[in-house]
Amino acid sequence: MLELKNISKKYGKVTALKSVSITLGSGIYALLGPNGSGKSTMMNIISGILPPTDGEILYNAQGIRSLGTAYREKIGYMPQYPGMYPSFTVRDFLLYMSELKGLPRGSEGEVDYILRRVELDDCADRKISALSGGMKQRLSLAQAVLGSPEIIILDEPTAGLDPKQRIAVRNFISETASDRTVLWATHIVPDIEGIAREVIILKQGEVTDIAAPEKLIQKMSGKVWRVRVEHNAAEEFRKKYRICSTVPDADGLMLRLLSEGQPCEDAVPLVPTLEDYYLYIFGDIL
Ligand code: ADP
Ligand code: MG
Repeated sequence: MLELKNISKKYGKVTALKSVSITLGSGIYALLGPNGSGKSTMMNIISGILPPTDGEILYNAQGIRSLGTAYREKIGYMPQYPGMYPSFTVRDFLLYMSELKGLPRGSEGEVDYILRRVELDDCADRKISALSGGMKQRLSLAQAVLGSPEIIILDEPTAGLDPKQRIAVRNFISETASDRTVLWATHIVPDIEGIAREVIILKQGEVTDIAAPEKLIQKMSGKVWRVRVEHNAAEEFRKKYRICSTVPDADGLMLRLLSEGQPCEDAVPLVPTLEDYYLYIFGDIL
């Protein structure tokens, strides 16, 4: 159990986190917020890399600072911008990381297993400098889950991946998560839809909500509408409502929009999604 108590972080005059208090058990927690909302800052603090300006973090009721390396060893961290030694080969890098993590020397089997899972087994002997962005991303994910740490922190793990790789990574993470704590930062809603146990909404450094995705979607009930408009009337709606999507339709447009009440007489209520909620919460700072 991981407990953040009144965590704040200031970089000079910039307040990146404002008194964040959350408790994480096992399962996947999505940390959802747009760029600049403080996701990476929170992850660096939880990883013990960055000291908070205020507040404390408890792991199983003990302060992480007093736990020191005993805590660090329980963490697998995939940073947003991984720095990996370019002259290492893929396999040597993971063997080196196992060594750093203090894993037993016989962990070569695990390295090979993880390489297969992230679909890098074909380039195990390639130098890191010769990898594509998506491959580096998957290698960084591999080192984070190596040794099955109790807490896995992933900072935008699917950035730069194509749709097929995205799905593979998503499945891999969801299978890895069963009995551990996974914190997954993203601003891409479909990544975590259907697999996150809870979603932590981070808005300008503040946790504004933490709930199961279904609960967040429920909040949108009665607020999502479909409206068919003529081209010349669309601008009016754009000014007045938050538009989720626009689809051309015969000689007009089909709009999916957010409105607290029925926006017009022939508006049809729609089943809300998590993406609607995201737009509802963050639409003003996009
Ligand atoms: P996110 O990961 O959600 O994009 P960050 O945690 O990277 O958000 O950033 C949160 C805020 O803190 C932003 O306003 C960003 O500009 C600022 N920030 C992040 N890192 C630093 C830093 N090292 N020095 C100064 N400001 C920073
Ligand atoms: Mg970030």
